[in-house]
Amino acid sequence: MFLIDTHCHLDAPEFKGNQKECVERAVAKEVKMMVIPSVCEDNFSSVIELSQSNRHCAFALGIHPLYVNQSSVDDLNHLKDLILVCQKEAKPLVALGEIGLDYYVKGIDQQKQVFYFTQQLEIACQNQLPVILHVRGAIDDVIKHLRQYPLNGGIAHAFNGSLQQAKQLIDLGFKLGFGGAMTYTRAHKIRSLAKTLPLESIVLETDAPDIRPSWVPKTTPNEPSNLKEIAKNLAVIRGINISQVADITTKNALEILPLLAKLFTPSEVLL
Ligand SMILES: [Zn+2]
Repeated sequence: MFLIDTHCHLDAPEFKGNQKECVERAVAKEVKMMVIPSVCEDNFSSVIELSQSNRHCAFALGIHPLYVNQSSVDDLNHLKDLILVCQKEAKPLVALGEIGLDYYVKGIDQQKQVFYFTQQLEIACQNQLPVILHVRGAIDDVIKHLRQYPLNGGIAHAFNGSLQQAKQLIDLGFKLGFGGAMTYTRAHKIRSLAKTLPLESIVLETDAPDIRPSWVPKTTPNEPSNLKEIAKNLAVIRGINISQVADITTKNALEILPLLAKLFTPSEVLL
């Protein structure tokens, strides 16, 4: 089995000094690839270093909507330059992200968020990179902006919208990220989406150290090794077996993040 955690923040303080063990625990549970998105200029170098020091990790670069207040236009220029350097040096950069809009958290100027989001959509187009989206309380606005750019698709991480919004994103070439939230039996809306959306549109993620699955105590950070149990939950929700979930969601992740596929030989993925 070959599972991919398409979204985890291994550079978070919760994992400090323990990242190697954390990756080893994940690999022992067949989570053989982890994508680490950045959130602002401050952590660009740490996600790059982590991915370079571990063959089971890849990264994305971008400015998260909740970090726009501490970002500047210089950071966007740095992002552009860094993408070129990473591509030239064949670093495992697989997407632009995480980027998006978050209208749920108050106090972050929406116009400023839109500026950083659309600038980065432009950068994604210029570099033909898929995007990893963070969207909260703003799906319709995000979809409106996505329509303006000839993008290579991407992943709507921690998707929590309606069936209709899911279909619009799928039509725009996006996969939807599902993780710990669907492991709570009372999460009817997300579980019903996980059950009814085409399996071809779903990718798995932990969002570690956040979005703890139901069995992880509040005092323990979520980590990528939990992805196998999350995959099992999806298998139960859909009435199929876990190896089918692993095969299809991994295929989906490699299809939407083609640079990730290049980091492994096809035979490794088949194992
Ligand atoms: Zn995230």
